[in-house]
Amino acid sequence: MNDGADMNGGKVVTRFAPSPTGLLHLGNVRTALLNWLFARKRDGRFLLRFEDTDRDRSERRCMEAIERDLRWLGLDWDGEARLQSARAGEHAGALERLAEAGHAYRCFCDASQLTLDRKLAAARGGPPRYAGRCRRLSPGEARRRAEGGEPFVWRLALSLRNDGARSGGAREDGGDEVVVRDLLRGEVRFNRRDLDDPVVVRSDGTFTFLLPNAVDDAADSVTHVLRGDDHLTNTAAQVWLLERLGLPAPAYLHHGLLLDADGGKLSKRKGGQTVAGLREAGLLPMALVQAMARLGHPNMPEDALDMASLIHHFEPERISTAAVRWSDDELWRWQARLLRAMPAGELAGMLARVLPGADAALASLIQPNLSRIEDAAAWARLLRADAPPQGEAWQAACAAGADFFRRALACWEALAAADWKAWAAAVREATGRSGKALFLPLRAALTGATHGPEMSRVVDWLGRDGVRARLADMIERCEQTGGEGQS
Ligand code: GLU
Repeated sequence: MNDGADMNGGKVVTRFAPSPTGLLHLGNVRTALLNWLFARKRDGRFLLRFEDTDRDRSERRCMEAIERDLRWLGLDWDGEARLQSARAGEHAGALERLAEAGHAYRCFCDASQLTLDRKLAAARGGPPRYAGRCRRLSPGEARRRAEGGEPFVWRLALSLRNDGARSGGAREDGGDEVVVRDLLRGEVRFNRRDLDDPVVVRSDGTFTFLLPNAVDDAADSVTHVLRGDDHLTNTAAQVWLLERLGLPAPAYLHHGLLLDADGGKLSKRKGGQTVAGLREAGLLPMALVQAMARLGHPNMPEDALDMASLIHHFEPERISTAAVRWSDDELWRWQARLLRAMPAGELAGMLARVLPGADAALASLIQPNLSRIEDAAAWARLLRADAPPQGEAWQAACAAGADFFRRALACWEALAAADWKAWAAAVREATGRSGKALFLPLRAALTGATHGPEMSRVVDWLGRDGVRARLADMIERCEQTGGEGQS
């Protein structure tokens, strides 16, 4: 792969740079995972950097939650997590240098002027962008207005204009084009006439993500940035400003976006599940990692079941530039697959929450039938003879009636050994029932559910007394409701 790792003595450095303004959601997980896989594949470093420039919205609580979620997912970072705010001095210095060289300027235009600009630009058939009015101000005048208390933002003098907006303090240089080198797309060329003058400092004095993000990447020696292609235009601005500052730009990989199941933007409101929410729903972290690692990476083999295999088979150059859709079904398919492959002892530990007293033997019994941990609650009767049967199971039992279970119990007592086949044959003989009419009520009585583990295994697990106790309980329940069934 032709990329920029050599700028750091050959050592790859990637980073995950969330804004700590909320919980980790699916889109973040993909970005974090891809950057983590890239670093681990290349034996490099993976950094965690909190981009907390939006101080009002950045919360310590969110940072802790993000760290907890990353750890839970198995995405470890190298060194301490960094805070973007710790480099505030460097960001201010970089802005000063850009301003002195005429690459950044103060803009005093208010919201209504900007709306008007966008409308005019759109009416001319161009992209909706800033008209460049304040680029004509001399630095001295701009400073006087700022000192006079007029509110302003800082913009980059990125756009090239033919309309005379180049006079004044902000100078244009660096050619007509900005070239972004992308590991998937090759050279992506931006004509500066199509670009806007992005805001780098808001009117409250805080930086937008553009400048600190790029300056920190250089300071952290980041060699590769993997992120969604919604950032491509931002990247053009960042490459341009890094060049102006004489700082190295990392290599970029812009992957296709992650969309929700309907093809819409994955928002926090719509299908934008949080990692914390999924964890509370009993999801295994590896199920999320597996579903995520395969999005836009279809050549990942099905049997790459652990982190080491995912790293081994990760091929960043084959990540799709097309948008991919999130699928809850795929997520839960992985959950089922991993639950079924897990050591029974480990599974038993997880079952304790929904099935107190579950041990490895019980876990191994119900494991082939589990898709979610919560499913296990349906088989409480395997542990407790008096656990009430589930709705449909209870209906099937009622339909069979107390007399059916009395006969089934008699057949059971008459057996020389606890043997499912022999018992089923005897009950068939004694009751005249066969097929579903025979098996369903027996299953209902023993397991409390209408489906589940093989009956021979259930009978072995419960043993003589266990089966007896469940049949007795079922007889009592049917008698209490007056159900004598239809034989
Ligand atoms: N803080 C930015 C974000 O959360 C980082 C983007 C990037 O990965 O460079 O969108």
